[in-house]
Amino acid sequence: MAQRGVLFIVSAPSGAGKTTLVRGLLERDPKIGLSISHTTRAPRPGELDGVAYHFVGMDTFEAMRDAGDFIEWAQVHGNCYGTSRRWLEDRLAAGHDVLLEIDWQGARQVRVKFPEAVGIFILPPSLDALAQRLTGRASDAQEVIERRLAAAREEIGHVHEFDFVIINNILEQALDEMVTVARAARLLTSSQLARHPDFFNSLGVN
Ligand code: 5GP
Repeated sequence: MAQRGVLFIVSAPSGAGKTTLVRGLLERDPKIGLSISHTTRAPRPGELDGVAYHFVGMDTFEAMRDAGDFIEWAQVHGNCYGTSRRWLEDRLAAGHDVLLEIDWQGARQVRVKFPEAVGIFILPPSLDALAQRLTGRASDAQEVIERRLAAAREEIGHVHEFDFVIINNILEQALDEMVTVARAARLLTSSQLARHPDFFNSLGVN
């Protein structure tokens, strides 16, 4: 289907600061809407249903998946996550920009359906910094942290599949770079053609 809004995919290893950067980008660029995924993971303290995620049981997730409700879905750290097809397609078709915070497996599936999606990958300044940040997230058990460190290396191996890389060393700088990427993405020829079809028609360009 046609994509009129710009679709951003943001991926990162756990602990790279993705959520903070995405939140900062959405504050500075409120025209971008964040897709809220469905997950079978239990809520962490402070996470609200319908805000952080739509928290669902495995039965519901499987029923939605089998009904084709997800444009992509993946198992990450032993839990299932999926992006609502209907919400995404409606928002894009209405001309709104959408941001997906998903892992590399999901990014691959989305790129097949939306080849013009703009992929942004966030890296930590070093693996040591990543380990420190993961240890600092006290809500997770040690075993979970170790699993996530191994998964982080795996995730980083997929950096080539993304269009832009942000190295999150100094937060303010990384945030400026996110904003810059979002602005530049709207000026890509593919974005401009999708956004202003009448204008390009009037120029004899299709
Ligand atoms: P967390 O459980 O820490 O919020 O997220 C764990 C991982 O799942 C992150 O890498 C996040 O990007 C990924 N994730 C969150 N929602 C989705 C989704 O809808 N689809 C996919 N493929 N990954 C997701």
